[in-house]
Amino acid sequence: MVELKTDTSIDAMHAAGRVVGQALTAVREAARVGVSLLELDEVAREVLRAAGASSPFLGYRPSFAPTPFPAVICASVNDAIVHGIPTGHRLRDGDLVSIDCGAELDGWVGDSAISFVVGRPRPADLRLIDAAERALAAGVEAARAGHRIGDIAHAIGRVCRTAGYGIPHGFGGHGVGRRMHEDPEVPNEGRPGRGLPLRPGMVIAIEPMVIASGTDAYLTAGDGWTLRTADGSRAAHVEHTVAITDAGPRILTARVPT
Ligand code: MG
Ligand code: MG
Repeated sequence: MVELKTDTSIDAMHAAGRVVGQALTAVREAARVGVSLLELDEVAREVLRAAGASSPFLGYRPSFAPTPFPAVICASVNDAIVHGIPTGHRLRDGDLVSIDCGAELDGWVGDSAISFVVGRPRPADLRLIDAAERALAAGVEAARAGHRIGDIAHAIGRVCRTAGYGIPHGFGGHGVGRRMHEDPEVPNEGRPGRGLPLRPGMVIAIEPMVIASGTDAYLTAGDGWTLRTADGSRAAHVEHTVAITDAGPRILTARVPT
């Protein structure tokens, strides 16, 4: 069931989303060659702590997961697409890093992700990240009352496919509210004019994932969490929590300095 949020609730979700934006900004600033993924997790923990927010990631255990998630960020490096567990891995020059973070504040959740390169970037990685961001922007632009879920999915998928990139199906966007994952599902590819009609008060996470080689194939790593590309090529993942309002799409997780 899709729960519609009042304007007051959307304002409260914006406060939670602001904490996520702060955490992602702080993590990105801290991410340098030689810094470990666990250190990045600690940076995000500190932002959440200072804001009085809790983590919807920490201890999260969806049906597919063999263990509760042990961190407040997902840190997915190079061929990892999403759900990477922060480890002692130290970032190397040219690593493509995707960081996903959530925050829960006053009972409301925000969920957002960024991709960036540490050190000297490969041009191909910058193109991949750019496509993911353009797909996200297209998805947000389509998140309007009177459209349908399929319009968002189509907008995302078209940008990714036009750029020649693969899309790992089975993972994508979702409703957000008092819980991190609510109805509806928001796929990263689909047919325009199909699916659930979008209404003011719906709040959804839109989160394109792209695979550089063009394959859609992925596998789950031995930790039971990390999704990796099947062919070892690189992936990017970006996400915003977005409210559908009478005035158009409202991004609730904009990046903000701490
Ligand atoms: Mg997320
Ligand atoms: Mg999400």
